[in-house]
Amino acid sequence: MSDCQDPCHQHPESSLRRLLDNNREWAERLAAEQPGFFPRLAAQHNPEYLWIGCSDSRVPANEICGLLPGEIFVHRNIANIVLQSDLNCVSVIQFAVEVLKIKHIIVTGHYGCLGVHAALEEKRVGLADHWIAHVRAVFSRHEDLLMAEPVRAERERLLCELNVIEQVVNVCRLPVMQDAWNRGQELTVHGWVYGLQDGKLRDLGLCVGERRRTDALRREAVTAWMAQRAQETGAPS
Ligand SMILES: [Zn+2]
Repeated sequence: MSDCQDPCHQHPESSLRRLLDNNREWAERLAAEQPGFFPRLAAQHNPEYLWIGCSDSRVPANEICGLLPGEIFVHRNIANIVLQSDLNCVSVIQFAVEVLKIKHIIVTGHYGCLGVHAALEEKRVGLADHWIAHVRAVFSRHEDLLMAEPVRAERERLLCELNVIEQVVNVCRLPVMQDAWNRGQELTVHGWVYGLQDGKLRDLGLCVGERRRTDALRREAVTAWMAQRAQETGAPS
């Protein structure tokens, strides 16, 4: 190591050293608690869930759901967007559905999402504006519902929720999903929102397990969610 010119290796007390130390302790502890855990995991990959979430460091899939390595397949990007034209995301879904044969896809947004906030406030953040434009499109689609919410913070929470519903719809319309349902594969899509303030997941009540018409699916999901919201807040739906 003494000859190494890599600046990361020249400061063993740097914050990166902490990560490597943590890793060694974690691996040793898990191996002690569950003998054979890592060799078993290395020999097979059989997760039941695909998590599509935000890249936000405060929303880690495994920890939130109390799952060990090997239990959940994960794709994350800013504001948990699913696009037909995103080869990365669509490849993850195709691999999860056709190769891993996962049973549940969970799109998970979160309150306090900076991508959603930027879209709502029309804030410029740089290159990522192009990506966040997809959340802005969700805003435009549901502008009447959103602008009917007078409290700004509550409007932002609603946009987080509607964004999840729209991304669930986007998952369901993918050809790979339609093909899976056509051949009778057991596969359901869900929409959740995570609360940074309390660490709790909220189920938006979506559970799509068959081929659906996109417009009808969106309409029913949004109507049901708005009714539930109204019930919770006591406001007319
Ligand atoms: Zn986020």
